[in-house]
Amino acid sequence: MIIEVEKGNETTLQQIRDLAVRCGNRVEVEDGPLFVTAWVIGDTRAFESRAGYFNGLPGVRHAWAVASDYKNIARVVRSEGGRAHIRERRPVEVKGLDGKVRRIGAGKHIFMVGPDSAQELGQVLAIAELAKQIGERFDILDRIILRGGAFKPRTRPTDWRGLGMQGIAMLDAAREETGLPYVTEVMDHNLVPEIAAHADMMQIGTRNAQNFDLHEAVGRAQKPVILKRGFGNEAQEWFYAAEYIANQGNLDIVLCERGMKTLYVKGGYCRFHPDLNVITHVRKQTILPVIFDPSHPAGDHQIVGQNLIASLGYLVDGTMTETLHEESFRDKQLCDAAQALDMDKYSRLVEAVLRFEEHVEPSLRAVSGE
Ligand code: PEP
Ligand code: MN
Repeated sequence: MIIEVEKGNETTLQQIRDLAVRCGNRVEVEDGPLFVTAWVIGDTRAFESRAGYFNGLPGVRHAWAVASDYKNIARVVRSEGGRAHIRERRPVEVKGLDGKVRRIGAGKHIFMVGPDSAQELGQVLAIAELAKQIGERFDILDRIILRGGAFKPRTRPTDWRGLGMQGIAMLDAAREETGLPYVTEVMDHNLVPEIAAHADMMQIGTRNAQNFDLHEAVGRAQKPVILKRGFGNEAQEWFYAAEYIANQGNLDIVLCERGMKTLYVKGGYCRFHPDLNVITHVRKQTILPVIFDPSHPAGDHQIVGQNLIASLGYLVDGTMTETLHEESFRDKQLCDAAQALDMDKYSRLVEAVLRFEEHVEPSLRAVSGE
């Protein structure tokens, strides 16, 4: 639901906000030259039934009931009268203890990096420290986010399933040491409040891509979230899944492509097939930032770098890469060891991304019309 209000009508805006809260919604205001636009976020059906009230408020110019499929996240929204409105893409902010704000989707590549899982305190601290050093060396500390799993979804029930809250404590310690914010996966909707009290950002993994109770719990937590695409989901199903989070009033959603199950995988030369075209599709269809995970489609650390570089051609907003602090740890690593990239090589990749941004991206943006 979108309401255009002529400038200078603060009382009207406040009344819209109050009504939104009563209906379980939230308002974000976008300033324009002649009027301000109030976006009513969440499941707006109750709010819309009060059209008689808000249309009559002083200064209300036009109210649009959004007729698009994805009411909260759509890039192009249509009013019932058929007018179209193109929304700005909306960056998602994650703040670190170092006071720096990471803005995902604001035009600069965001580097999410860390182990598949927190397994040992020394391992997590070493990777976090190396990530911080990379940030300092290239003056991009405000673009680095630590990643690490504690609750691990495993295909086989007898495989190691992560350290749970003990792993979260290790990530907390790494944040304390380095100031970097971290993202970690949540699997159980009952645990969302507890994990949200620690993590700076939560991740919904591919195996929970349509676990809607989980999506709603994460939406209610009002924390930034990465929503991975289900490895068998169409883009449309992925967008509806994001709507489950947005419907709770949480628009701080980052979509992450991580590879599909296709016939290509049968030959055994990769784990999943990266669908890079979908990155452009997300940008055209939604206001949400989109990142790419080069590690899980690879399944092999020698393929991670080329996957990451390939995604740059699609103007991706960031990447999330699994790494290793020292080669000797590979044999001990209990999950996703083969695809872990060592931090030295990762640092070379960061350098390549920065060069790409400077030298190639301007031409690419001109060619793609973005
Ligand atoms: C992960 O990030 O370690 C993970 C389990 O990812 P996915 O859900 O994409 O398999
Ligand atoms: Mn993994």
